[in-house]
Amino acid sequence: MKTIAIHTNNQPEFDRELIAGLPASGPRYTSYPTADRFHNGFGETEYANALELRGLGALNKPLSLYIHIPFCNTICYYCGCNKIITKDKSRADAYIEYLEREMDLLAPHLSGRHQLAQLHFGGGTPTFLSDEQLERVFAMIRKHFQLMPSGEYSIEIDPRKVSRDTVFHLGRLGFNRMSVGIQDFDPKVQAAVNRIQTVEETREVIEAAREAGFKSVSVDLIYGLPHQSLESIKPTIDTVLALDPDRLALYHYAHLPHIFKPQRRIDTEAVPGSEEKLDILQYAVHTLTERGYVFIGMDHFAKPDDELAVALREGWLQRNFQGYSTYADCDLVAIGVSSIGKIGSTYSQNERDIDAYYAAIDAGRLPIMRGYQLNRDDILRRSIIQDLMCRFALDFQLYESMFGIPFAQYFKAELADLQQLAQLGLITMRGNGLKVTPKGRFLIRNIAMVFDHHLRHKETTAKYSQTV
Ligand code: SF4
Repeated sequence: MKTIAIHTNNQPEFDRELIAGLPASGPRYTSYPTADRFHNGFGETEYANALELRGLGALNKPLSLYIHIPFCNTICYYCGCNKIITKDKSRADAYIEYLEREMDLLAPHLSGRHQLAQLHFGGGTPTFLSDEQLERVFAMIRKHFQLMPSGEYSIEIDPRKVSRDTVFHLGRLGFNRMSVGIQDFDPKVQAAVNRIQTVEETREVIEAAREAGFKSVSVDLIYGLPHQSLESIKPTIDTVLALDPDRLALYHYAHLPHIFKPQRRIDTEAVPGSEEKLDILQYAVHTLTERGYVFIGMDHFAKPDDELAVALREGWLQRNFQGYSTYADCDLVAIGVSSIGKIGSTYSQNERDIDAYYAAIDAGRLPIMRGYQLNRDDILRRSIIQDLMCRFALDFQLYESMFGIPFAQYFKAELADLQQLAQLGLITMRGNGLKVTPKGRFLIRNIAMVFDHHLRHKETTAKYSQTV
């Protein structure tokens, strides 16, 4: 296996006591305000207006496209996603037809055939689609957008159903990044979550991606799954390191069977307790950083020469609905059931129920179910939260000049709360700014939450996942 040079800069400091002592749940801030603030007063008309404004050039940013494929072959019991379990591939034919019709409804609002800086296929399981079905979706994309050689085009892969040939086919279509779901290689854990996946089929996909010229391969792991322990996770992490991914995400499993029905099939007794989970996390962080991976933020790691680590070092890291990203703040057009887009100062979400999604398109409507128009305060706070999550520092003067506010006065209550976090060692405050400490890097969500107006004023009903 290739050895990575060890960089200790930017690495977090794992302070167990501190982590255990702070509120454990909070938003992931893939958007601000968070999706629970979206409302149905924002619909098709508001979305069309946002697109029209963009077309006027006032808000013309690079464009991203997200396509949601909701189907999965089998159910993973830990899943909290919006998905449809089926083995019937013909359901995807009908769905693609609706994607094409949604795109035809959108096209007049997009004013031209835009270049795509980013493209992401998420799910569900995007590779539920056959090679032919994926080609059909790509024909639709090419009809409406131009792909660029420098674009970042990614797809989520379930290695259980993907052959080498399909990986090469994905490369020929234009994909150059993939994220591969692993979660855990331990057979007992896999059986308990109904996701049986061999090391061999995973390795085959990752090796094929390299041969096919994919620029970056990311893998997803989950900690907190049933039967996981500090001892059981060690072989999984060793195996994953031997697969040599460019990026790695280590997500926390939140066991919320009262909210997510599939989780009722997980034996609650088998779910590790918080001490064991902290042991696993501490071990994983220590091992990954010792092996040279750079801690990016939240739950993401990357090799020092991966674009994500470079973006972190050079200060142009971004955060969007897919997590951390290297592209400058893009407008995002999202199609497919339940997908969320971002145009200028708006967010919009498509119908979450597939029948409602189909019915809206049959009626000739853009299938927007809800959304949000940011006000000036939201835009200011979004900018602050983005800086905290991606640059781990704030320069108060910057916001004073950008937004014309006296920072100390405007954020009086927030600054008082920040003083407490400074005393705990999460941040250091200086006259006109703050810096997140290595200890605070792990608790960045807790720091960002200070600036979340909606959370401060309890205007939210969402159940958030744990911050670590
Ligand atoms: S975790 Fe992924 S593959 Fe498994 S059921 Fe959920 S969406 Fe489908």
